[in-house]
Amino acid sequence: MNPLVRLHGDDRALFASDMHLAEHDLATVSAFTAALEQHGADATHLFLLGDLFDLWVGDDHHDAVADALGGCIGRLADGGREVWLMRGNRDFLIDTGTPTFSERHHARLLPDPCLIELFGERVLLAHGDALCIDDLPYQKLRAQMRSQQWQRNFLAQPLTGRLDFARNLRSRSEHEKQGKTEMLMDANEEEVRRVMREAGVTTMIHGHTHRPAHHRDELDGVTLHRWVLPDWDEAAGRGGFLRVDAGGWRFEAP
Ligand code: MN
Repeated sequence: MNPLVRLHGDDRALFASDMHLAEHDLATVSAFTAALEQHGADATHLFLLGDLFDLWVGDDHHDAVADALGGCIGRLADGGREVWLMRGNRDFLIDTGTPTFSERHHARLLPDPCLIELFGERVLLAHGDALCIDDLPYQKLRAQMRSQQWQRNFLAQPLTGRLDFARNLRSRSEHEKQGKTEMLMDANEEEVRRVMREAGVTTMIHGHTHRPAHHRDELDGVTLHRWVLPDWDEAAGRGGFLRVDAGGWRFEAP
């Protein structure tokens, strides 16, 4: 893998993920878009690493939530910033339409996983759900829904049918989560090591688990750094960014 983006000198990166923006929680939509405009103003590169939306049934579905984030991204991009998006497990159908969501808002799509370079260091970016390999039923569903055949069939259905399907899937997943242990839903440490070794990196950034942390792990005498991004929930007081510039790496409260 070659780095898709290289930051150096005065560049300033801002990372966020798991906003799960949805019509049933407009407080988080307002809070996140305001925070992104404010904190993003002082960045040159913005990376949104998946689950921007709690549901995404196709780029032809517009609502107030999509317009709010799209407008915010568009203003930041038009102001001279590079805005990069990654798909998550809830919004894995982003950018399957014509034009794509990214195209409409002057952003660009990152593959999951992918490599970037931050001030001379190769860094792996991922949403994070692929690391949770202990959750076998989820991984099976993931493989099925990421297939081209499944996506073609799904996107060929009328919008109302797609929305019904997605809402059912969401409530089923919320229900099943209650029976899953914390460990089952976290990143598998061995898988993290394997993925980082394969990519030839010692630093990784991901979201998905909603367990923000800077993990350090020793492997073959080298320290591996894994930065896990927080999710956003205005009512619960959760949210935040990771900022990386020539001065270093730190979490930033909204
Ligand atoms: Mn996720």
